[in-house]
Amino acid sequence: MSAHPLEYAAPETLEDALALLATHGPEAKVLAGGQSLVPLLNYRLARPRLIVDINGLPLASVHADDGRLRLGALTRHHELEESPEITRRCPLLGEAARLVGNVRVRSLGTLGGSLAHADPAAELPMAMVALDAHLTLASSSGHRTVPAREFFRGYLTTALAPDELLTEIAVPVVPGAGWAIEEFSRRPGDFAIVGVAALVSLDRHGHVEDARLAFAGVGDRPVRVPAAEDALRGGEPADARLARAAEIARDALEPASDAFVSGAYRRLLAGVLCRRALGRAVARALGVP
Ligand SMILES: Cc1cc2nc3c(=O)[nH]c(=O)nc-3n(C[C@H](O)[C@H](O)[C@H](O)COP(=O)(O)OP(=O)(O)OC[C@H]3O[C@@H](n4cnc5c(N)ncnc54)[C@H](O)[C@@H]3O)c2cc1C
Repeated sequence: MSAHPLEYAAPETLEDALALLATHGPEAKVLAGGQSLVPLLNYRLARPRLIVDINGLPLASVHADDGRLRLGALTRHHELEESPEITRRCPLLGEAARLVGNVRVRSLGTLGGSLAHADPAAELPMAMVALDAHLTLASSSGHRTVPAREFFRGYLTTALAPDELLTEIAVPVVPGAGWAIEEFSRRPGDFAIVGVAALVSLDRHGHVEDARLAFAGVGDRPVRVPAAEDALRGGEPADARLARAAEIARDALEPASDAFVSGAYRRLLAGVLCRRALGRAVARALGVP
């Protein structure tokens, strides 16, 4: 199939893009890398009257300030993988981006597009929830900042209003933290059946100072499990503690069954992947290569 007839605009300034969104509201759709939007258009699952192509806007900058990595919404997945600046400050992002689709998808797809699309099995939304990132949403009447945990509202649903553009993602840098993403998918490059991102920091006594666990594929949005994180904090990162935290996470999740696998299988998988991710994150926090 091909897309139904539509108009196309390629604004050159943020102001012009926001004015188009303000005028056309839900009749307009933003085009970034097109890796999710174009298939939706071709299957006529999205039928906007106007496409607002934002690729000409200055939204691809990457810089660090005030303990945060600031990523423009047009930062491509491959840049998350390859940029030394990003890798040095937040290696979890590279590990997440590397698992997205294939090379073609990663060379075109953007961070902002992945977050705005909000597939609950996607790696980058899960990573942003684990990292406690903040998202800047701009409209012609101003801008607001939303924590990643509040941005995702349900299946393919976010806090973005029709006249808003996601412009920047601010990721707090956690120096010395160990990180890992584990996922299971049927074929390499497929969306994960279940994924988990783990971030672990140790204090000077080698005890867990902070721990974050975010899951993909287990609900209608990325899911954090505070009870499992609490079970890790304050103690030595011994095998038994990591295993217990993974069990707590597994038991707290309530994934649904679908055409691919049962909810019970997803829950089991989440526990196993969580234990693996915690083991790798702790090893990295201890400096083990
Ligand atoms: C074969 C294939 C395999 C894939 N595998 C995976 C995978 O394993 N994991 C994964 O996470 N993803 C996967 N994807 C999706 C991919 O990551 C997309 O790149 C991503 O979902 C969307 O990014 P995009 O820049 O292409 O956005 P687009 O497709 O251009 O847009 C997606 C949606 O976001 C909106 N949007 C885009 N940018 C903004 C913005 N700045 N502000 C407001 N709204 C915006 C658009 O209007 C649209 O609704 C796959 C895609 C393909 C084609």
